[in-house]
Amino acid sequence: MCSCYEFANKARKRESVDMEARIAYVREDSIFYRKGLRDGDVIVRVNGHELKDIFEWRQELDLGWLEIEFFRAGSDEIRKIEIDFWSDGGMIDYSAIYFESPIFDGVRTCRNNCIFCFIKGLPRGLRKSLYIRDDDWRMSVFEGSYITFSNFTDEDWHRLEALAPLELYYSVHAISDDVRRAMGINAPSPLKVIERLRRMGIEVHTQIVVVPGFNDEDELKRSLDFLVKSRDVVKSIAVVPVGVTKYTPGEVKKPSRKQAEKILSYVESLSRDCLKEFATRLVWPSDEWYWIAYQRSWIKELPSYEFYEEFVQLENGVGKARKFIEEFEEAWREDGKPELKIDATILTTEMNKELFSEIFNGVVDGVRLKVVENSFFGLSVDVAPLLVGEDLFRAAGEEKGLCLFTEEALNEEGLFLDGLSIQDAPSNLVVAPAQGAEFYKFLRDLD
Ligand code: SF4
Repeated sequence: MCSCYEFANKARKRESVDMEARIAYVREDSIFYRKGLRDGDVIVRVNGHELKDIFEWRQELDLGWLEIEFFRAGSDEIRKIEIDFWSDGGMIDYSAIYFESPIFDGVRTCRNNCIFCFIKGLPRGLRKSLYIRDDDWRMSVFEGSYITFSNFTDEDWHRLEALAPLELYYSVHAISDDVRRAMGINAPSPLKVIERLRRMGIEVHTQIVVVPGFNDEDELKRSLDFLVKSRDVVKSIAVVPVGVTKYTPGEVKKPSRKQAEKILSYVESLSRDCLKEFATRLVWPSDEWYWIAYQRSWIKELPSYEFYEEFVQLENGVGKARKFIEEFEEAWREDGKPELKIDATILTTEMNKELFSEIFNGVVDGVRLKVVENSFFGLSVDVAPLLVGEDLFRAAGEEKGLCLFTEEALNEEGLFLDGLSIQDAPSNLVVAPAQGAEFYKFLRDLD
């Protein structure tokens, strides 16, 4: 977990997921249901083993015969059932049970002490789960979380090898040992990790969070060069600027406009070379670079939709703006409507204000754009998912009419980062979709 976008992605999930084998859903026509398992039951042992995660559950399923010990919510009584797939028609039923979490024994945390760690610099009082510095390859497999391999044991490597082929998300940041040390990264060298993954047939999507004065300039070039040369293992590379808040230590600085321009120019040119040579760009800069480098005209400088190919690094803020614009405009074209007249205020960040201005031109009239100051993380934070309830509520309170903000500031339970709930929002504050087409349809319905 290393960039502010990743932090925002994590924040959008449920507040706390029980780290136990709690069943979210049992299919009613399954043998599990007939034998007595129900939604909410917690499995404690299977064939005498406490399971670590869903991979071990599947291994037990493959045996075809299960002795399951479980308890029901609100009871301490351990119940036991036996299931024999062979005498029940011989088919192992992999899809009959869904667990609340793929990890049953707790999320593994990192052993780094990164100077740029977004979590380390969080203020007190946020939702508890946000402070977990996760570095767990199982979350990488299931949720696309970035890992550093800082806590890998021989057992982890063996388990990964047994599960290959699969894809992981790997935070590389730098390849030189001295730079890694200076940045507080204690994880093994990427040179060794990539080599090991290569032997195992495991592929990775990678990211570099650039911290000026540490891993920019020559180190960035060296790291990118290594990753491009490792393209048999490396499937994509996202280059992301460090997220700086008012809590970040002084030695970590946001890239300047000039630095951002220089990095963009280098990454774009490398991306062009890769396209010529390997028929994929392989390396992409995140949207924030364009904002830092070009400020008000950043949308005009964004690459085309095709530039992002399959949008494989979308969660890292790579191509997010271009995708939103394209989908919004396509939905408008398909709709064939004249200009929409909307009487509302959109509460947003300085960065996204430019995006909305661009897409509303000739499409939507009457909408006011209000920049919400992020007093919680600091005024330099322009990322919309990091807007907190307190700031949005205050901004809506200053307006008379309808106010909108995009849903990426909320988690699945309707909570903002600061723990405020959408239920407690002023009555004029409404949540709008964060996807381009849905956002257009939402506005059209207000027309
Ligand atoms: S210390 Fe480093 S690896 Fe660990 S969570 Fe923070 S940024 Fe990610």
